[in-house]
Amino acid sequence: MKNYQQLYIDGRWVNSAGNGHLDVVNPANGEICARVPSANLQDVELAVGAAKKAFAAWSENPSSTRAAIINEIADGMQSRKDDLTQAIVASMGCPISVAADLQVQGAIDALRSFAPMAAEMDKQQEHTNHIVVSEAVGVCVLINPWNYPLSQLVGKLGPALAAGCSIVVKPAEQTPLQDLILAEIIDGTSLPAGVFNLLTGVGSEIGESLCSHALVDMVSFTGSTLAGIKVAQAAAPTVKRVCQELGGKSPYIITPDADLDAAVRYGVEDVMLNSGQTCCALTRMLVPAEKLAEVESIAKTVAAEWQIGDPMLAETNLGPLSSQLQQQRVLSYINTGIAEGAKLLCGGTQVPEEFSKGAYVAPTIFSNVSNDMTIAQEEIFGPVLCIIPYQDIAHAIELANDTPFGLSSAVYAENRAEAIKVASKLRAGQCYLQGAYFNTDSPFGGYKQSGNGREWGLEGLKEYTETKALLIDADAS
Ligand code: NAD
Repeated sequence: MKNYQQLYIDGRWVNSAGNGHLDVVNPANGEICARVPSANLQDVELAVGAAKKAFAAWSENPSSTRAAIINEIADGMQSRKDDLTQAIVASMGCPISVAADLQVQGAIDALRSFAPMAAEMDKQQEHTNHIVVSEAVGVCVLINPWNYPLSQLVGKLGPALAAGCSIVVKPAEQTPLQDLILAEIIDGTSLPAGVFNLLTGVGSEIGESLCSHALVDMVSFTGSTLAGIKVAQAAAPTVKRVCQELGGKSPYIITPDADLDAAVRYGVEDVMLNSGQTCCALTRMLVPAEKLAEVESIAKTVAAEWQIGDPMLAETNLGPLSSQLQQQRVLSYINTGIAEGAKLLCGGTQVPEEFSKGAYVAPTIFSNVSNDMTIAQEEIFGPVLCIIPYQDIAHAIELANDTPFGLSSAVYAENRAEAIKVASKLRAGQCYLQGAYFNTDSPFGGYKQSGNGREWGLEGLKEYTETKALLIDADAS
């Protein structure tokens, strides 16, 4: 068992001012795999103070220096790719092949993509009577969940460093290990002390203090809508910028003339990936009522290819959920779906005896779901798909938008042009057309209760910038 004793503050490993700790539990077997410090309010003061002290000099560095350091960190991550992968498999149960490619290599590549963006900060817009420049926001608190812990960190860290911000990071309680490894990597780079600070700890204990701190300029939060609201409330009295990436219940419209085999396969695979713990998962599949039987048959066949297994084995594509708590939450939703009268096509609440020690849930599909059922309205965050029949496209669009969320959506039509017509009617921050996949160049973020602000790409960088107007007196030299 790995025992991390210290927090990373002001360029040094330091003991927490308190003596609390957190156990990291491997959800595949329920065993404790690591122990980390649980930061307290004094640690928050030290970390925020260090970030404040480091901010001015860091933001005044040439953009080329910031870009070079981002690449230096990415190089360090590449050389510790195996450690980062193992940390994610052990703490959240993601199958090793998915963890290595999607969660770790994807994050390293994404971090590199922010290096050239540092130069965006040098651009100025010249007008006859004013010049518009961009400056770094300041001290940023970055709070993340456990489902894609490294990618989510990189999606905040990359643009924050590129813009010239200094940072205090707080990972989820369940998944602090990749952040601790990243701190070890950063300790070996030329990033100035205090620009990156890491507090492992409990959100309900130190979150409010981080989000309300007078020296913090911005909070970027990814997590549940409930905690996102608390973050915004804590940040409001000091008028901080708050970027919220929250939950989803994303619709996926398959039109009557779509290639049904390809479309249904895409939808089932999308939901099963990462055991359904993906905020933008397309968990409501809207299908023409007359094709429901055909859709059910394809969906069942594809789901059978996703069988639970040991996440350490290369052939496993469906690992456990991230914790027993999450497993119980998902099982309770499955029971609710059954009780509300949805048709259980496959999966359910049972798993083979050999997996009973882990937080496993079988790939589960409900059909003939009505959009007002709990399982169609609330985010389940597990390998559970709802198939919802519709009468015509207008009805499909109405059902798609009948949700408090607006994070993602998708359309599979006969062709791209037809898909774009439907996409233009969907109230969500992203729409995946004809089987497209997530990429880190496209802006990502929610409408409605799925959040505020955007991550990734240039839009993601802009979140970490302030706009300043330099007004010119035409007669002055
Ligand atoms: P969570 O909200 O419980 O926790 C997320 C983070 O917030 C953790 O680090 C936690 O410690 C911290 N936190 C909790 N209470 C806090 C408070 N009062 N103040 C400050 N920080 C606090 O969410 P979770 O269960 O870890 O993650 C699952 C949720 O995250 C799902 O709802 C999912 O949709 C969402 N999510 C959204 C996105 C996105 O980009 N939109 C991405 C991934 C996950």
